[in-house]
Amino acid sequence: MSDATSPENRSLTPGLYIVSTPIGNLGDITLRAVEVLRQCDGVACEDTRVTGKLLKHLGISKPMWRYDDHSEHRDRTRLVESMRSKAVALVSDAGTPMVSDPGYRLVNDCRAEGIPVTALPGACAAISGLALSGLPNDRFLFAGFLPSKEKARRETLDELAAVDATLVFYETAPRLTKSLAAIEAALPDREVAVAREITKLHEELRRGLPSGLLAYYDANPPKGEIVLLVGPPPESIASEEDADAMLRNALRTMKASQAAAQVAKATGMDRKTLYARAMGLRLA
Ligand code: SAM
Repeated sequence: MSDATSPENRSLTPGLYIVSTPIGNLGDITLRAVEVLRQCDGVACEDTRVTGKLLKHLGISKPMWRYDDHSEHRDRTRLVESMRSKAVALVSDAGTPMVSDPGYRLVNDCRAEGIPVTALPGACAAISGLALSGLPNDRFLFAGFLPSKEKARRETLDELAAVDATLVFYETAPRLTKSLAAIEAALPDREVAVAREITKLHEELRRGLPSGLLAYYDANPPKGEIVLLVGPPPESIASEEDADAMLRNALRTMKASQAAAQVAKATGMDRKTLYARAMGLRLA
């Protein structure tokens, strides 16, 4: 079989080639990625030092241009124009471009200008983290990095609490315990997984409730790169009528917020929704 990027085809059609690169283990570069990097006219990258090292490892020497989505508009326009006659590879420092990495403005502009765009799939930490976690993966929501500010982090988790899917976040080692503490406060009963240093020497997967993982990483500060995953809400076992009956009962002895938390725990229903119902019941 032969296509525009097969080894036997020595020149590439002009356009943009989105090339995924390894997230740690250099053996994860694909054959097709090597061929495109070898045959392209130049490489647009986040950091020329990082990509320079990868190219050197592959024995490839190419012009490199620094690119991020905040690059000057005229630089992007120039890059897009060059693709009318040149094959340009887009890479990020690691993994798949545009997964929490630059590139979408470039792709968007190429599409608008009728420049051919093709993608070479490969390593992506979010997908490998999901696979390693053993959490349900029929539905998952990739949510990038949690905000660094406490209030925004809490609001994001509250917003995502009702999503019926495994949540996938990117995380940094210094912020892991803060995020676990926020997850413990917002989603204390959810199964959580920490996938660390995927494909590298110290690859590690830990799973448990947020409180247990928080205690572990408080005592053993993590190093390296991390994907943090939160399992989906447990299936609700109660109807709305059942929940109202449980709320009414709980409201005899506790505040609406406590009643909502208790019934959420017992039924797997969303705490915020239950709180609103409890307030309604109290007023009725
Ligand atoms: N585009 C990349 C991808 O496809 O995975 C992700 C780039 S994002 C700027 C970097 C984040 O990805 C890190 O902070 C970490 O959360 C995650 N990550 C990258 N490599 C990883 C690895 N080997 N193990 C665990 N997480 C990793």
